[in-house]
Amino acid sequence: MQKKHNAKKPWTVFIAILLAIAVGCVIEKETLIWKISVYDVFDTIGNLFLNALTLVVVPLVSSSIISGIARMGGDGNFGRLGAKMFFFYLTTSLAAILIGLFFVNLIGPGQYETPVPVSDTIATQLSTLKEQVTTNSGATFLTILQQIIPSNILMALSKGHMLSLIFFSLLFGYCITKIDSQPATTLNHFFQGIFQTMIRFTQIVMKVLPIGVFCLIAKVFMTTGISSLKSVALFFVTVLLALAAFTFIALPLFLRLIAQVSPLKHFRAMAPALITAFSTSSSSATLPITIDCVEKRAGVSNRICSLVVPLGTSINMSGSALYECVAAMFVAQAYGIHLDFPTQFLVVLMALITSIGVAGIPSASLVAILVILKVIGLPPEGLGLFIAVDRILDMCRTTVNVFSDSCCAVLVAKSEGEKNVLVQEVNLSQDS
Ligand code: ASP
Repeated sequence: MQKKHNAKKPWTVFIAILLAIAVGCVIEKETLIWKISVYDVFDTIGNLFLNALTLVVVPLVSSSIISGIARMGGDGNFGRLGAKMFFFYLTTSLAAILIGLFFVNLIGPGQYETPVPVSDTIATQLSTLKEQVTTNSGATFLTILQQIIPSNILMALSKGHMLSLIFFSLLFGYCITKIDSQPATTLNHFFQGIFQTMIRFTQIVMKVLPIGVFCLIAKVFMTTGISSLKSVALFFVTVLLALAAFTFIALPLFLRLIAQVSPLKHFRAMAPALITAFSTSSSSATLPITIDCVEKRAGVSNRICSLVVPLGTSINMSGSALYECVAAMFVAQAYGIHLDFPTQFLVVLMALITSIGVAGIPSASLVAILVILKVIGLPPEGLGLFIAVDRILDMCRTTVNVFSDSCCAVLVAKSEGEKNVLVQEVNLSQDS
């Protein structure tokens, strides 16, 4: 039987975040205590936490999808679910991009920016990114498409190709429904067992959430520092306002008007996943916690969660899409290039398409932004204008990516008539 799921004490994580920002701003990256680098200690502990989460992704996602599909019984429900899922992915991402476009036009952060020659460090970062774009040039979409059907599933998994994993698991689950009932039941139980075990595993890792969050955030602030925010403060504020409008106005409207659930309850249900996304800047690493929250705290069935959340983590990047649009428009403004309506439409389209290919890892959007700049004919050096603040904005857009996926899961679940979605008050005062 599934154990009752309790929540983490939210205040411990909240204190950890505040403490980490304070420590990160005060202690310098080179600081040594008893000849030990403080940064290295935070880096090691943070990476251990990240590794423990990432470790769960493959077995959790595969067992979740396989048992979900196998239970659906291959009765054609998948087509309907898939259509709804893609509809919500598309509408939420489009809403996010249009909100970004609105704010960047309204505030015009780039108008106050004069492009200056980029520093050496940024130039190196830029050339690495440019190389990535050139290697993938033109083939980005085709490369993603080819990843879906791998010739060797183990090799694909070792490279962390989520789409291959999802495709393989979907087909595997479907085939289980087509074999004799006895081995099918055995396999079903087997994968359900793995799924439940992996959820327990995730909950154990979450016990050290405040420590992991502290180390990861302190590390970011030790390297980025508050001072870098000043240089592109207006860009920073524009992105934050747009992300906030999408998260606190647009998505709650979707939840309230379409799904008819309380957005506040959903925020409370998703709190552990949102905090993890914020501190790790990786929606892939957060995936185990997102699945746990959507199923156990928001009450979405495994049948829907197992499909909508992992697939959303791979292809539905609303926060990243918004960011890409604002960043491209910002560069155009900074270089004094006026983008007419058709070109702005192209930016929106490109943001939507490239966000599908953005991996759920830190700074993945930068490559997509370079692609957009290239297509629109803007100077790639424009990236150097805001790259210094990218990491902190990454924490925010990743949180939005994860929240948007969870909203899509709720929207699909409610449209399928699920009765248990967000009915129970999430108890945040208990520890797991
Ligand atoms: N870090 C983001 C994520 O994991 C991707 C990005 O926008 O860079 O969702």
